[in-house]
Amino acid sequence: MREPVVSVIKTEPEPDEQQIIQAVREAVELAGGLEGLFKPGDLVLINPNLVAVPPQRRGGAVTLKEVCKGVAVLVEELGGKPVIAESSAAGVDTEKVIEATGYQDLRDEGYEVVDLKKDKTVTMKVPAGYVLEEITTFELVQKAAAIISVPVMKTHDQAEASMSIKNLKGLIPDELKKDFHRAYSIFEGVPALMAALKPSFAVVDAIVAQEGLGPIFGLPVGMNTIVAGRDLVAVDSISCQLMDIAEDEMFMEKNAADKGLGVIDRSRIKVIGEDVAALSRRFMRAVDHVIIEEPTFNLLFEEGTCTGCRNTVLSSLVDIKNDNLQEYLKNKTVIAGQCNSVPDDVDPEGLILVGVCTRDMKANGKYVKGCPPNNIWVVQAIVGEGKAKRQYATEDIDD
Ligand code: SF4
Repeated sequence: MREPVVSVIKTEPEPDEQQIIQAVREAVELAGGLEGLFKPGDLVLINPNLVAVPPQRRGGAVTLKEVCKGVAVLVEELGGKPVIAESSAAGVDTEKVIEATGYQDLRDEGYEVVDLKKDKTVTMKVPAGYVLEEITTFELVQKAAAIISVPVMKTHDQAEASMSIKNLKGLIPDELKKDFHRAYSIFEGVPALMAALKPSFAVVDAIVAQEGLGPIFGLPVGMNTIVAGRDLVAVDSISCQLMDIAEDEMFMEKNAADKGLGVIDRSRIKVIGEDVAALSRRFMRAVDHVIIEEPTFNLLFEEGTCTGCRNTVLSSLVDIKNDNLQEYLKNKTVIAGQCNSVPDDVDPEGLILVGVCTRDMKANGKYVKGCPPNNIWVVQAIVGEGKAKRQYATEDIDD
């Protein structure tokens, strides 16, 4: 296999739209450009990370619209038809995220920005040797001549980091997203997704990255950087190097590399542009980020807890903290995920069971229905009705 090329480009601090678009252009061109990936007239799907409504637009939780616009401009210059498309985390209304993150502005400028959750689902075969034989995706994804993954650089509470291959979960419907947690590990499922979808380029938005409790509630890190390349595993490897994450901490990318889907070994990747070692800084890991300091409060994410329930619970805790209601966390235990028993030392008076995965245990505490539940229901279960505002709303849900 030839040495993959990854470009690393720095912008001015706090760059404006034109500076970001220029940095994207330089990064893509240095990494070999988009030439040959599609023909004039072809649909090119640009997939940002729009996981959920973030606390702030430039906070490192979601891909900046300016980065996607930069990619769309390059696609148009080659005669392609760019479509920016995403399906947000399970239970999250993608349209609300589009509105909150400024992607509506791109629509107003004439760019197509699609909520994939409204599209028809289709199945696509996965080559032999993966944890899945086929995946469910969307008609638009299947029609695309090329897929460009445009993640934002961040640490993550289930994987060490969320980069361009994990970002592809935004191209599958909610039910498969949940199965990635319930039935398959994301570390095995994401390489299968990659094998089926064959993404052809990645542009990582590290203008404002995020450390700590990603994918949403971490802390912003101004990196003012764009990373790009045709080999998504190599792009993720170099992006993680910038965050001081070692190759052997990148389980998803390692599995993908073992299947021949790309190169993770940094000694075999050609980096063009900035000096990665000089730019690198240690990103706080999600497990090291304490958001609640009440010592008698316990949070248990059982095996198979999806992003939907994790985000719901964590956003509820952030709401409680922001509303100065932390006293209600005293002696409470919150459990989410596939729960078959409750630890003996948990006081039933303070037990909150979140989501349908805990339904069999609902006689043991206060049960919050939903898959995932609505954030406000979790807040109310903890603090009581009428004491907290709804800040990170999800869609209405089915029990
Ligand atoms: S209840 Fe939560 S953890 Fe269980 S499948 Fe639904 S979203 Fe996932």
